[in-house]
Amino acid sequence: MTMIAPGSTIGILGDGQLGRMMALAAAELGYKTHIYGQDPNSPAAQVSTAVTIAQYTDEEALRKFASAVDVVTLEFENIPTETLDFLEPIVPVRPGKRVLEITQDRHLEKSFLNSLGAPTAPFANVESLNDLRDGIARIGTPAILKTRRFGYDGKGQVKINAATEIDDAWKEIGEQPAILEGFVPFELEISVIVARGVNGDIQSYLPVENRHKNHILDITLAPAEILTVVSDHAVDLSHKIADHIDLIGLMAVEIFVTPEGEVLVNELAPRPHNSGHWTIEGCTTSQFKQSIRAAAGLPLASAERHSNAVMRNLIGDDIDHWQEILSHPDMSLHLYGKAEAREGRKMGHVTRLFPLGTPPKV
Ligand code: AMP
Repeated sequence: MTMIAPGSTIGILGDGQLGRMMALAAAELGYKTHIYGQDPNSPAAQVSTAVTIAQYTDEEALRKFASAVDVVTLEFENIPTETLDFLEPIVPVRPGKRVLEITQDRHLEKSFLNSLGAPTAPFANVESLNDLRDGIARIGTPAILKTRRFGYDGKGQVKINAATEIDDAWKEIGEQPAILEGFVPFELEISVIVARGVNGDIQSYLPVENRHKNHILDITLAPAEILTVVSDHAVDLSHKIADHIDLIGLMAVEIFVTPEGEVLVNELAPRPHNSGHWTIEGCTTSQFKQSIRAAAGLPLASAERHSNAVMRNLIGDDIDHWQEILSHPDMSLHLYGKAEAREGRKMGHVTRLFPLGTPPKV
């Protein structure tokens, strides 16, 4: 059966704010949700029908979870692929194992992208100090050394400005498999969120601009102010990627736009993405609802926007401004229910809409 009817239970691997907003969207469509995570009071657990608290390698817990749900989706991509090996014979998992294998490893991901003709920064595989030296000789500096696995929000990355820093850089990332990337002097960073259904139908949200602070997304502006030809190219590439990776679900394609209008893919995230939070207010169907539709095998809805938008993240003690934000009637406040406002932690976000035709202002 490909269509999972409302009333069924959607299992979600992961329990953060993305899982929370997916669970809320699932509830709007009449589904129950069952979260698999590690914290009984997590943002997602707080709003779900059922919760399993266990490690991703706990076979007994996975077996019970798989038999309690009708389909499994995920809210973060670093789920061990062994977990999917275990679940997939029992219950459909969307997106599936191949998507995770590719997107968990920066070298596989960039090689896959280039194999489709999707351009990226030049890169070299690095498994030793010698590989790093060879990579620098080929790519030059400045460059960025990134761990192949488990990097996010700038973690597991070091910029190399001169050949002399090679030994230190290798130590700094823990001497683990990595890729060296040429530094891209981009003009702006954009992302395209694309959904692909069980029948291969595609809907994508228009490209948005992402501005970072301390390596963490600060602001998203929808739409990105780019030429139509650049926007169309970014969207075409994203559709091609979704098709070739055989996506069932939602994927964010993070892209650098160079001053010449060249489009280079930086990273893929096979789940709802922080740069798509504005779609809750700005579009007929949010990225979260779209991800649930895709996972449940429902027809996808239109990803058209009815407004322009600015989304700002509330990081750490930014959350102290909640009352002030609420005093602005045109701002939509979202809080994730996290007890402790640690530095760098995403606590919530705020969205403000603008009429179509009016550029979104920060
Ligand atoms: P990533 O973890 O790959 O998404 O990188 C985090 C951030 O570092 C990106 O959003 C960029 O701002 C910056 N960055 C990553 N790779 C490059 C690159 N090759 N050239 C320039 N900036 C980069």
